[in-house]
Amino acid sequence: MPIATVNPANGETITSFDALGPEETERRLATAAGAFREYRTTGFDTRARLLSRAADLLDEDQEKIARTMTTEMGKPVKAARAEAAKCAKAMRWYAANAERLLADEEPADADVRDAGASRAYVRYRPLGVVLAVMPWNFPLWQVVRFAAPALMAGNVGLLKHASNVPQTALYLEDLFRRAGFPEGCFQTLLVGSKAIEAILRDPRVAAATLTGSEPAGRSVASIAGDEVKKTVLELGGSDPYVVLPSADIAKAATTAVTARVQNNGQSCIAAKRFIVHTEVYDAFAERFTDGMRALTVGDPAQESTDVGPLASERGRADLEELVDDAVRRGATALCGGARPEGLGGGLEGGWFYSPTVLSGITPEMRVHHEETFGPVATLYRAAGLDEAVALANDTPFGLSSNVWTQDTGEMERCVRDLEAGGVFFNGMTASHPALPFGGIKRSGYGRELAGHGIREFCNATTVWYS
Ligand code: NAP
Repeated sequence: MPIATVNPANGETITSFDALGPEETERRLATAAGAFREYRTTGFDTRARLLSRAADLLDEDQEKIARTMTTEMGKPVKAARAEAAKCAKAMRWYAANAERLLADEEPADADVRDAGASRAYVRYRPLGVVLAVMPWNFPLWQVVRFAAPALMAGNVGLLKHASNVPQTALYLEDLFRRAGFPEGCFQTLLVGSKAIEAILRDPRVAAATLTGSEPAGRSVASIAGDEVKKTVLELGGSDPYVVLPSADIAKAATTAVTARVQNNGQSCIAAKRFIVHTEVYDAFAERFTDGMRALTVGDPAQESTDVGPLASERGRADLEELVDDAVRRGATALCGGARPEGLGGGLEGGWFYSPTVLSGITPEMRVHHEETFGPVATLYRAAGLDEAVALANDTPFGLSSNVWTQDTGEMERCVRDLEAGGVFFNGMTASHPALPFGGIKRSGYGRELAGHGIREFCNATTVWYS
């Protein structure tokens, strides 16, 4: 993939970049290793001051960086602003909480004595240079979600961002530099994915985190495994959205629309499979389909746009193949199922796809077990809670899940049985710095955010005194 900004709303190439050569990559690796030697000795107060400064700068830059994200990957500009604000909030949260999250842990006195020690504790020390391989869909947030805790823990970061968001990637490097982080604490490597193996195998790189597709995750994890290096993987998702009879159906349907089309439908935690109890199926399906049909598709730079283009031509083609396969095998498109017509305004060359609801899904269809990364929902009818849970779990993924019910017994059952890294009741999945984020099954492993996230790239060191 060329490293370039190509506007998905019209297909125009705006600017392109040469990939870093081996010499420049080597210089940056050496700079990162050198930076870690010093930075690891800084205190939480210094790191917090720098990260808070980065948050302030990001707030000041919000409009500019939001427009850059919209131009690079097509998210509606109002969502881009919200993403920038969320990043600043997460930076401040880690600036305020990292010291507490990484405080020394002391076992009970009796256990210390039993271990033959006069004193013992666990100290969370940084690991070193962490390589972050990141996707374009939340081009600021995915990176900040890694960088804020990593920098607070005393690690340094090397970012290999997706090739279609180079300006956002360079902005991030510049942001941390302007905030005052010492040179080399956070660097962007403009390289293609083929360059990752050599970087990851370099002994100066201690660990890697990857957010992206399953093939990319498998590749990075196997290289890291070969080198015995720690990884965190945040991969795809096909989250269920279960609606049961006691739910507020109108609210469930309105939220379902937002949950499906957020970020033009390209979110790992978007609800993708809508599993509805037969008693409320018709009422939900009608409201949900009406809501999807009513969305404004168009120029993401306009405030009134709900759904912009897909980020790449390939992404739209993949989505079209999934929908066409389902329809060929008997699914019904209750709305959408095609590219929108007559958008005008110079958007003819853009990679748009109409919000789509598919019903009559069967296990033979690819949409049943693959991720739809765009504004396409699949609708299932379930005879009862048992069937709803079975359908929800009938996926290779396990990122998050949503359940709409007022029944506490049903809630407990779902917390016990849903195979996912999150269970959200009567609302849509969202991430918050204080709550861990991540998946099971083919959605990956490890956690980001909260104390779980910051400790992933720490050396939990046992300290023992006789
Ligand atoms: P992608 O193609 O896997 O790209 C993600 C990153 O991995 C990019 O930097 C990409 O570089 C790199 N990459 C691609 N192929 C690679 C390989 N073989 N080895 C090493 N690195 C490789 O994913 P995407 O299409 O951008 O993003 C969509 C996927 O990400 C979806 O499946 C989505 O669900 C998932 N995602 C998951 C989360 C989560 O938190 N669980 C969040 C967001 C997205 P290039 O751009 O240079 O190819």
